[in-house]
Amino acid sequence: MENFLENYKLEGNILPIFKYPAPVLKQVAKPVTEFNDELRTLIKDMLYTMYNAPGIGLAAPQVGHSIRLFVLDIWFDREEVTRPNGKTDYELSNFDPMVFINPVFKNKEGSIIHEEGCLSVPGVYEDVKRAEKVTVEYQDMYGNHLSLDADELFAICLQHENDHLDGIVFIERLSPLKKQLVEKKFLKSQKKN
Ligand code: ZN
Repeated sequence: MENFLENYKLEGNILPIFKYPAPVLKQVAKPVTEFNDELRTLIKDMLYTMYNAPGIGLAAPQVGHSIRLFVLDIWFDREEVTRPNGKTDYELSNFDPMVFINPVFKNKEGSIIHEEGCLSVPGVYEDVKRAEKVTVEYQDMYGNHLSLDADELFAICLQHENDHLDGIVFIERLSPLKKQLVEKKFLKSQKKN
């Protein structure tokens, strides 16, 4: 994995991120059946796009591909730096990218409330209740079957990204009233831009 992304800063394309309520974000994504170079190029571009945003997770539907795939990295370091031109930028290091294809939760335990955000709903941060611990079975970019246990932020991120594969954006996990308020505010903010 390290080699695959060693030069992520030099290679890869920034993909356009679809914003809520784009139709592709509301579709149930299809399973990945072909583990080919085309898929791996998409994964690389998704990671490149995620780190550039910067974000800690990105699902394929967010970049317009309705397939069951997401990437995440909750461990990388992000340092705010000021460029010679006076602009604020981020320097990223210690990457630990993970790729999840055709994920299925085999177990969910406990509950945890944590503030979430999403690259498809920029500027919105809201508390969401999730399972605290999960076990997920998935495939890697070569089609190998794997399984892992995750808790806390890792578990939250897995559930947030997996929701994207089911056509669910995190604000839809809020109470109906809260969702309505947040949605209205967000759509208004998007019109201004
Ligand atoms: Zn998201």
